[in-house]
Amino acid sequence: MSQFLFITDLDDTLVGDDAAMAQLNERLSQHRQQHGTKIVYSTGRSPTLYQQLTQEKPLLEPDAVVLGVGTMIFHNGSPEPDATWQARLRQHWDRDRILATVAHFADLELQPESEQNEFKASYFLYETVATEVMTELQTNLQQQGLEVNLVYSGGKHLDILPKAANKGFALAFLQEQWGFERHHTVACGDSGNDLSMFEINRSRGIIVGNAMTELRQWHEANPSSDRYLATQHHAAGVLEGLQYFELL
Ligand SMILES: [Mg+2]
Repeated sequence: MSQFLFITDLDDTLVGDDAAMAQLNERLSQHRQQHGTKIVYSTGRSPTLYQQLTQEKPLLEPDAVVLGVGTMIFHNGSPEPDATWQARLRQHWDRDRILATVAHFADLELQPESEQNEFKASYFLYETVATEVMTELQTNLQQQGLEVNLVYSGGKHLDILPKAANKGFALAFLQEQWGFERHHTVACGDSGNDLSMFEINRSRGIIVGNAMTELRQWHEANPSSDRYLATQHHAAGVLEGLQYFELL
């Protein structure tokens, strides 16, 4: 057994089955103590909604937390986001022009203020029109020289992010900072906003058994021996995957 970088989504991946999460937490916590394994939470949640979850569920204290779909990285309980990461995202990002462009799209409805941040513009978008609207939006933004990442998740959420921001790039950033190689890094998720962690192909991957169709379909179309689709749900699926890769 040796140390590894464990990076997991929260809602419907780590969180969803309290008993299974307690069991996984115990194993991970022990592994961190004995081997120096790093535990990272990577979520679409804003700082406010992440704090709320920490009140509701007994999460472990993570070594870092990635919030807002890769737009903020906080180290070990620090109140300030990683400044190097923020500087990287600021390049080629013009949130005001993006908002002005999106205002012309009737199908995009702005999410509440709590879900917005300097590097994230978030909207509601119905699944039935999602592909069409996203293609048109991407083209429109490109024509203005605005390079962004469009991340669609859960059949209803569209996040517009800087080109350099998503959960996958945040994974790579932490991996480089801490010096973990791909076979000692594992990413876990259940939905579309986790896809970038698998797509970047810098780690092993665990998809939990309750994963949404959007992620499952992508996995089936892009199989990899470094990615494992668990049969069990939530934290039990994560544990199943960690054992499959012989990390735990
Ligand atoms: Mg999730």
